[in-house]
Amino acid sequence: MRRRFKDIATLWRALWADRGLATKFVLAYAFVGFLVVASLVWQAGSQLARAIEEEVEHELELRALIIAGTLGSDVEDMVVHGRSPREVLNLMQQFSEGTDTRISFYDRSLRLIFSTDPAVQPHTAEMTAEMKAALALQEQHDIRVDPWSQETRLFVAAPVLHEEELLGVVQISIPWAIVQARINAQWTALIVAGILAVLGNVLVSFWLTRSIVRPLRLLTQTAREIAGGRMDRRVPVHGRDEVGMLAVAFNEMAEQLQQRIERERLFIGNASHELRSPLTSLKLRLEMLQDPSLPPDRRQRYLEEAYREAERLQQLADRLLDFTRLQVRPETETAKPLDLAPVVGEVVDSFAFRAAQAGVRLRYEPSAQALTARVSEEGLRTIVQNLVDNALKYTPAGGEVTVRLFPDDGQVVLQVEDTGEGIPPEHLPYIFEPFYRANHSRSGKHSAGLGLSIAKRLVETFGGTIRVQSTVGQGTTFTVSFPSAVSSEELPEGEKQAGA
Ligand code: ADP
Repeated sequence: MRRRFKDIATLWRALWADRGLATKFVLAYAFVGFLVVASLVWQAGSQLARAIEEEVEHELELRALIIAGTLGSDVEDMVVHGRSPREVLNLMQQFSEGTDTRISFYDRSLRLIFSTDPAVQPHTAEMTAEMKAALALQEQHDIRVDPWSQETRLFVAAPVLHEEELLGVVQISIPWAIVQARINAQWTALIVAGILAVLGNVLVSFWLTRSIVRPLRLLTQTAREIAGGRMDRRVPVHGRDEVGMLAVAFNEMAEQLQQRIERERLFIGNASHELRSPLTSLKLRLEMLQDPSLPPDRRQRYLEEAYREAERLQQLADRLLDFTRLQVRPETETAKPLDLAPVVGEVVDSFAFRAAQAGVRLRYEPSAQALTARVSEEGLRTIVQNLVDNALKYTPAGGEVTVRLFPDDGQVVLQVEDTGEGIPPEHLPYIFEPFYRANHSRSGKHSAGLGLSIAKRLVETFGGTIRVQSTVGQGTTFTVSFPSAVSSEELPEGEKQAGA
C-alpha cells in the first residue's frame, strides 16, 4: 500500500510537480482549451448535423409533393384509363436525372407501377412508415437499409391525388451516404477550426508564459551568479508588470547588498588600520623594555606609555565592538519609555571632572517637565557620552559646553552645544560616517572617528534624527530629536503592561 502510494507520488512528480512553469501553464491551457473547444465543437456539430438532416428531409418531401402534384392527371390517364405510362415515366426520369434520387410510383394497393431505378423489381411495397403516412395523407420520412441496393437510404413518400381521389403513392429515396457526406464535411470543418483554436490557445499561453518564465529564469541565474561572488550582476527590466517590479526589487536588493559588502570591507580595512598604530607603538615600547641596561626612569616612562597604548587599544576595541553589535542586534530590543533627564544628567555629571581640568564650563539645562522617549538606557548613555566627549575634546579652555533637554512639537530634543573650534562646512556631510575625522591634528591620537557614527546609528534605531550645525571658530551644536513617548508612570494602571 505504502509502496503504491510512493509510486504514485513519484509518477506525479515526474509528470507534473517537477516540470517547469512553462510546461505546466501550456499543458493546463491546452487541457482546458481542449475541453472547452471539444464541447463546443460537439454541440455545434450535433446541431449542424440535425439541421442538415432536417433540411434534406424537407427538401425531399417537398420534391415528393411537387412530383405527386405534377403527376396527378397523367396518372389518372394511366391508372384509370390504362394509357401508356411513358409520359409519367419521362417526367420522373427528368426529376431524377443525374442524381442518385430514386423515384418509384405505387398504386393504391402499393403495387409497384414503375421506378426510375432499374434495380427495383416489380413487387408490392411493405407498409413502411413513409408509405403509411402518405396513404393517410401525412408526411413521414424513414431511414433504413434498402433491399434492392443493400445501402442505407432516406425515404419519403407523397400521395398522388386527382380530384380528391387517392390514385397512388410516389416514393422518393436518396442514399443516406450523400447526407452523411454533407454532415461529415461540416464535422471536418468544425474539428479543424477547433484544433486551430486549441493550437492558438496553446501558442498564446506559450508566449505568455515565456514572457513570465524567461525573466524568472534570468533572475534565478543572476541570483546564483551573485551568490557566487559576482556582485555587479543585475537583471534587465522589461515593463512595469509584476515581473518587471520583481526585477526592479531584485536589482535594488543586489545594489544594497553590494554597497553593504563594500562598506563592510571598507570598515574592516579602516578598523585594521586604526588598530595598527597603537599596536606598533606598543610593540616598540615592549621591545625597548627588554633592554636590561635601560635606566629606571626611562623604563618607567615606557611602561606608562605602553599602558596608555594598551588602554587606547582597549577603547578602540570597545568602540568597534559597540559599532558591530549595533549592526547585528539593534538596541530596540531593550528600548522602553524612559524619562531622559536623570540619565542625561548622570552622564553630564560624569564629565564634570574632565571639563574642570580642561577649563571648560559644562552646563546642563533639563526641561522642567519629564520628557519621555522610547530608548534603551544604555543606548542613550552612549549617545550623550559621545556628543559631550566630542564637545569637550574640540573646545579649548575658557569655552563652554551646554547640554539641553526640551520638548518640541511632539519630539524630545537633546542638544549639545559647544563654543569650540567648529567643523569646516566641507566636512559636515561626512562626519557621521565611520572612521571619518574632520580635524586630524586634534582628534588623530585619541579617536577612531567612530563616536558620531555610533551615536547616529543608535539615534536612528530609536526612531530619532541627529543634525549638526557648526561655524568654524564659533562652535558646534548637535541636535538629537526622539519621538516623545508616554512613560509607564503616566499610564493608567491597567495599561502599564502594554505600554512598557
Ligand atoms: P572622533 O572619535 O574622531 O571624535 P567622531 O565620529 O566622534 O570621531 O567625530 C568625527 C569627527 O567630527 C571628529 O574627528 C571631528 O573632527 C569632528 N567633530 C565631532 N564633534 C565635533 C565638535 N563638537 N566640534 C568640532 N568637531 C567635531
